Amino acid sequence: MQHFASDNYAGICPEALRALLAANDGHVRSYGDDEWTLRVADRLRELFETDCDVYFVFNGTAANSLALAALCQPYHSVVCHQLAHVDTDECGAPQFFSNGAKLLPVAGEQGKLTPASIVEVVTRRTDIHYPKAKVVTLTQASEVGTVYRPDELRAIAETARDHGLRVHMDGARFANAVAGLGLSPAEVSWRAGVDVLCFGGTKMGLPVGEAVIFFDRGLSDDFAYRCKQAGQLASKMRFLSAPWLGILEDGAWLRHAAHANTMARRLAAGLAESTGLPTLFPVQANGVFVRLPSRVEAGLRARGWLFYNFIAAGGARFMCGWDTTPETVDRLVADVRELAADPA
Ligand SMILES: *Cc1c(COP(=O)(O)O)cnc(C)c1O
Repeated sequence: MQHFASDNYAGICPEALRALLAANDGHVRSYGDDEWTLRVADRLRELFETDCDVYFVFNGTAANSLALAALCQPYHSVVCHQLAHVDTDECGAPQFFSNGAKLLPVAGEQGKLTPASIVEVVTRRTDIHYPKAKVVTLTQASEVGTVYRPDELRAIAETARDHGLRVHMDGARFANAVAGLGLSPAEVSWRAGVDVLCFGGTKMGLPVGEAVIFFDRGLSDDFAYRCKQAGQLASKMRFLSAPWLGILEDGAWLRHAAHANTMARRLAAGLAESTGLPTLFPVQANGVFVRLPSRVEAGLRARGWLFYNFIAAGGARFMCGWDTTPETVDRLVADVRELAADPA
């Protein structure tokens, strides 16, 4: 049975799996000095149309935390949205790996930061007794399934520069954002002012692993040591990197992300039709948020559906993945319709 709890409930996509098996041939150098890892880094440089520095780590928490730590001293602070994964779902890892940098969560419509919200928080305190603001982190696509357009990113990056801040992007669902915008990865990242991107692989269909991409290579000094110390340097690195080759090879990454987005739109349309309830946020990536009557939620769970409702202020969250089928979406919609119609 397929579920909507998270896009990480899905298995490995066929392109990644084939590449993983292909890499399982013979002996190669360890710790990333293998041809698979070197090739993927080159492919990512081609994809982003720039000479960036690429590292692979096991998960998103490590990617974000180590990237932020690389941008910060312990006496610095990081501006984030109040729903940001770095603040709400990483168990303090950004603070831990940066040796104490403070997160500054701020409110913002539709899960997004704005230049004004950033200025407000970084100018509130500028004295020696408060951690100095050094980074702004954005989630693309956001935790509530919305997407920053390049003009929004550029405005934020300009504000950041004006105040001496670096720009980090949590791209756990970067592929869905790129697919949703229909723009190039470069336009949605470094060309819009992003310094470091954590490009999510897991939710895109890889078995495991995220790429940390430094567009400003000067920021990645000693990053390899940081990864190693944090237990994030894979000795059999080829199995983290090779699956990327599979999905980058023929645009599978973008195809899968576009499919997941299409399924989310199908779900949103179906739910609106059957319940009359609008989504809580515009559906711009692969997530759908809707406030269902608790009776309907309980009924869905009784029928075996798994989904979260603790994210984003109470609404139920339905995430679509690379393998979500139209039939699964339609079955969920039919169940909601039935439960909503039942007066009991
Ligand atoms: C899933 C996710 C991550 C990564 O989580 P891990 O479980 O550490 O891999 C990071 N940011 C966001 C917004 C996510 O949804």
